[in-house]
Amino acid sequence: MNNETLSENNLFLKGTPANRGIAFGHISFLQRTSSIHKKHLIEDVDAECKRFEQARLHAIAQLGALYDVSLEKLGEQNAVLFQIHQMMLDDPDYVESINNVIKTEKANAEYAVDIVARKFEQQFRSMDNDYMQGRATDVIDVSRRVNEILMMHAGKIKKSGIKYKGEGPTILATDDLAPSETVQLDQGKVTAIITSAGSTRSHTVIFARTMGIPTVVSIGDDLDECLEGKFAIVDGSQGLVIVDPDERTIAEYKSRKRTVDAQQAHLDQFRGKKTVTRQGRPICLYANAGSLADIDLIKSSDAEGIGLFRSEYIFLQSKDYPTEDEQFDIYRQVLQQMDGKRVIIRTLDIGADKTTEYFMLKHEDNPAMGLRAIRLCLSNRVLFKTQLRALLRASVYGQLAIMLPMISTVEEVLDCKKILEEVKSDLKAQGTPFKENIEFGIMIETPAAALISDELASLVDFFSIGTNDLTQFTLAADRQNADLSRYLNPFHHAVLRLIEIVVHNAHTAGIWVGICGEVASNEKFLAKLIQLGIDEISVVPPNVLRLRARIATLG
Ligand code: PEP
Ligand code: MG
Repeated sequence: MNNETLSENNLFLKGTPANRGIAFGHISFLQRTSSIHKKHLIEDVDAECKRFEQARLHAIAQLGALYDVSLEKLGEQNAVLFQIHQMMLDDPDYVESINNVIKTEKANAEYAVDIVARKFEQQFRSMDNDYMQGRATDVIDVSRRVNEILMMHAGKIKKSGIKYKGEGPTILATDDLAPSETVQLDQGKVTAIITSAGSTRSHTVIFARTMGIPTVVSIGDDLDECLEGKFAIVDGSQGLVIVDPDERTIAEYKSRKRTVDAQQAHLDQFRGKKTVTRQGRPICLYANAGSLADIDLIKSSDAEGIGLFRSEYIFLQSKDYPTEDEQFDIYRQVLQQMDGKRVIIRTLDIGADKTTEYFMLKHEDNPAMGLRAIRLCLSNRVLFKTQLRALLRASVYGQLAIMLPMISTVEEVLDCKKILEEVKSDLKAQGTPFKENIEFGIMIETPAAALISDELASLVDFFSIGTNDLTQFTLAADRQNADLSRYLNPFHHAVLRLIEIVVHNAHTAGIWVGICGEVASNEKFLAKLIQLGIDEISVVPPNVLRLRARIATLG
């Protein structure tokens, strides 16, 4: 349904779409025990330290149970967060700091936990590392848990955990929800989550996606407590909350929900499964990424790896050449976050439509066929070596594969291999660790590369066909020019024949071959690729499950 068809009488709240799906329910605000605890002077500091210790152990036990629930609901990669929470509660620095506040200030344990949590939160937030910054929310979350247990032990509250007024189908509203709160939600009751703050990158959103709860975040001040109890519709894909909808809107959304739910239920059967064709041939189904920010989405898409990490985005987002350490830090985090799954990082593909000032590239009449990508790297070896050093150093953190863009000659590949060996010897000489057996592949995106793919296949571990460029170069149709879109046809027999040649030559040489151009998401094209024997497919994350379902019918 398009939004123009909705009645103007409805009250709309607009936020950021965080998880798709349509939900109905009454809005109910999460009720938390106050997170600000006043300081009381206590007499027996040892008894207060003991109170804290009991609550801490109780919290660790609760987190163990939460880990078990999450393992079942969300899988190992998400459940691990609660082991991190347990480790935080065991951290001597955290524990001693709290005991110190109790002893030196003769303060109550709740106050001490609060003060120390805020200090740690600040420290984490000021760190120059995404992973550590993410721990700021966690330290607040675990500390809130300890405080609730302290209050429960003191008889001030009846039980810890999620509390809200609503009964029946509930749209849970709050400023922000902690991951541990999200996993405790009763999916039979909470139909949607709406938050005034929050980001689409939070663990909460990842969990909500895995649990299939429609979610809208960052609604802002419009999400006011006066909405408590109101009936509403949440449209997760549009980031929309429709409060007090009229009959016509309810009817329209009910019909839409039936269609969406049926499609989703079908796709959910494929979550966590291997990708196999009807005849049982396994296919690696990966996702394309442009930055660290994409990794959460990729993980919740259930992709089996990253088939194309466009490293040039790091350069495009930077005001100057990113240093080796800056690059290393990003590659390391990508590999760590992908938990040992294969991550194919493409070396710099700058030039053509992707450029930024500090490169000071000379004006070219035909930049798409100019000094770009691997050609630029080979003409600026310091730039290339810096990237390769960063990649090799990061390789110890996961399953890295390196891929070269825009190859058109055998000499380029030989040159790049030589440079890679030089970088390896430098690192060895410096005693810097890296993995020896990193897969090394090339993109096939020029007709030249496709036609000499028999020669190239003996030099590399894999090919990845870049149909976006391969189509434009084969058909002499600029991909940037909208007027030429009818010429830019990947179904043209010239393109299909080149792909056929590439797959044949790869398999004859015993290497695997994938595709990472946009057309891989097209189901008709996909059928052709499967028929040709393609081994790996990399697409934008939202298409992963749909393609897994489709591949199961092909073969
Ligand atoms: C391609 O050319 O198909 C490709 C995947 O690379 P890019 O779109 O980044 O040029
Ligand atoms: Mg390309």
